[in-house]
Amino acid sequence: MIIDSFNRVHDYLRISLTDNCNLRCFYCMPEEEYDFTPASRLMQADEIATLANIFSANGVNKIRLTGGEPLVRKDAAKIILSLSRLPVELTMTTNGARLHEFTDVLEEAGVRSLNISLDTLQADKFMLITRRNLFHQVKSNIDLLIRKGIRVKVNVVVMKDLNDSEINDFVAWTKHTPVHVRFIEFMPFSGNRWTSNKVLSFGEILQSISTEYDYLPLKGGAHDTAKGFIVPGHAGTFSVISTMTSPFCDTCNRMRLTADGKLKNCLFSKGETDLLTALRNGEDVLPLIQQNILSKAKALGGQFSGLEDVKVAALENRSMITIGG
Ligand code: SAM
Ligand code: SF4
Repeated sequence: MIIDSFNRVHDYLRISLTDNCNLRCFYCMPEEEYDFTPASRLMQADEIATLANIFSANGVNKIRLTGGEPLVRKDAAKIILSLSRLPVELTMTTNGARLHEFTDVLEEAGVRSLNISLDTLQADKFMLITRRNLFHQVKSNIDLLIRKGIRVKVNVVVMKDLNDSEINDFVAWTKHTPVHVRFIEFMPFSGNRWTSNKVLSFGEILQSISTEYDYLPLKGGAHDTAKGFIVPGHAGTFSVISTMTSPFCDTCNRMRLTADGKLKNCLFSKGETDLLTALRNGEDVLPLIQQNILSKAKALGGQFSGLEDVKVAALENRSMITIGG
């Protein structure tokens, strides 16, 4: 088992397959010109399988593939199928633009649930946020996956004066569609133009929904990051991920492997452990994994304690696109 110094068991690994992406979401990519990591510095498919095997042998029972955009990687299908042989729940976070090319692979891999990101239900606003004209492709892929019986959670990063006016449109979508909308508080990362006044808090999101809907809380799982709700009679649900105003670090069980093979013990951790170089040098990586997790801070990477306390210039971290969310 992989345990930190606060007795939190770490059994959930998120693996970034690439820092490349077919969208350009401004809140995720750094502002400055960005060079994607060359393929030789990325974990290769066999290296991903070897590392995933080590984690699985040491108690990991859930793996999420992410990126960048995991499905832009040429060998994405091969990686998905190889990880599906492990005794883990395999899932993925994707922007959805290429999902229609992967339905057979996902079915063969036994993937039952996916997180798909969609911040707006308006095509022109999608273009503004992502700088790519792919709204209709993403939306129809979400519908396709739901029709195929896959549980779809839709990630919506809520930003003041950008998409906060659409919160109730997303809730309306859950009326006849079994879609699980997750509103995410906007988080600060290197170069992403974050300011505290662009964050719409958990309380503000619920307040906005309560102007149109009565809703009930859902019972959560032990390690849930999202607080869930349902409008009685709706086919789907909504939830809020309140990292900035009500963090859920006490029950954290997550580790992150970046596409270049560095282990991060928190989305906001400063330190990283280079597992890929160790693996390529023939070293035993398990002690490195255990040391990294033992050094995990109690909350928020030890970098801030909540919304009021963020000093953006002082944050030491990667950009979101190189971590994987
Ligand atoms: N490309 C895939 C996607 O967009 O779903 C996977 C990678 S993306 C980095 C993972 C998740 O992080 C997405 O749901 C995205 O909306 C979210 N995200 C990115 N930047 C964020 C930020 N600054 N605050 C909150 N969520 C963010
Ligand atoms: Fe790409 Fe996902 Fe980041 Fe958007 S949020 S730029 S889709 S990695």
